[in-house]
Amino acid sequence: MQNLRIRTGKAMLYQPATNQITPSVYPVPTPGDGEILVRVTCCTLCGSDLHTYTGRRKENNGPSLLGHEIIGVIEAIGGNEVRNDYDGAPLRLGQRITWSMVVSCGNCFFCKRGISQKCEMKYKYGHDSWSGVPTGGLAEHCLLRANTPIFSIPDGLSDEVVAPVNCATATVFAASRLVEETHRIQGSKVLIWGAGMLGLTAIARVRDSGGVPYVVEPDQNRWGIARCFGAEGCVDPTDRTGMLEMSTAITRGRGFDISFDFSGVTDAIQQSISIIRIGGCINLVGSVFPAESVSLDPEDIVRRMLTIRGLHNYRPDDLACAIKFLERTSSQYPFESLVSETFCLEDTEKAFQFALEHQPIRVAVKGEV
Ligand SMILES: [Zn+2]
Ligand SMILES: [Zn+2]
Repeated sequence: MQNLRIRTGKAMLYQPATNQITPSVYPVPTPGDGEILVRVTCCTLCGSDLHTYTGRRKENNGPSLLGHEIIGVIEAIGGNEVRNDYDGAPLRLGQRITWSMVVSCGNCFFCKRGISQKCEMKYKYGHDSWSGVPTGGLAEHCLLRANTPIFSIPDGLSDEVVAPVNCATATVFAASRLVEETHRIQGSKVLIWGAGMLGLTAIARVRDSGGVPYVVEPDQNRWGIARCFGAEGCVDPTDRTGMLEMSTAITRGRGFDISFDFSGVTDAIQQSISIIRIGGCINLVGSVFPAESVSLDPEDIVRRMLTIRGLHNYRPDDLACAIKFLERTSSQYPFESLVSETFCLEDTEKAFQFALEHQPIRVAVKGEV
């Protein structure tokens, strides 16, 4: 006799009408050819999840499944063909993995021009309207599409350390890759705006590349952790005098070589343009929500020969570099301390509220705590 009992899983859905998170049950999907069913073990809440939750960023009108900084283990692989990870190693059941948040086609105008994260047919995990199929981190499962770049997680890295890798860490590696197309981080004085997950990771990345990172962060409670990640100095963005004194002392008033903005704050970007040296580079990363415009004086850009670049999301090769970086440096920098609180899946709403109230670097939601 056929067993008609359908296995179900639980998803915690964001409801834009009420700004609440409510549970929903789905039938556990059977992966089709090339698809992979993952059991989610850990999902950290990214700043963009918080922006969606507070209504600052509009994703969808209906309920949606958020969470894209995901780690999980392979529960089922669809089809008969062997699926390999990004490095070409065969994937097996029970293996701990993460994957590229953006899935791209590899063939369109943008994919062929090296910006596959802007693929004309891109798909992003953790951003979908709820369709009954789990495709985000705030559920017990996540169904991966056949063309998703998948990455095996080294044993030495805990879920909490590695969960942010497929958003924050990989984005930092994409940003630094872009800067290094025109400038050298090694030997440069680098100004980093914002000491959140991306800023702290960037501090370590710059230090690791032989640059000297300085951080601009209004929350002085974060200065200590910024120093642990390698910041040479910290300054408050409202302290204009302190900023100029720092620039004078460190760069003889020429200005910083490179600036990364992870804050998305208009005033910070305006200041970073004025404090960069002739021929310097400004990389904008944090402006992923509407903000006031920055005023640009074209003559100033020309005469000071500035490079201003924007970076959104990342490519699979950035994620590969990010995982290797964490594997190599996780004992050197206190990544472990960045997840301050862990909640079980049922308490996802509490996790969001805790994140908004206490502004920790990250909170984690785990399937089994
Ligand atoms: Zn994110
Ligand atoms: Zn494409």
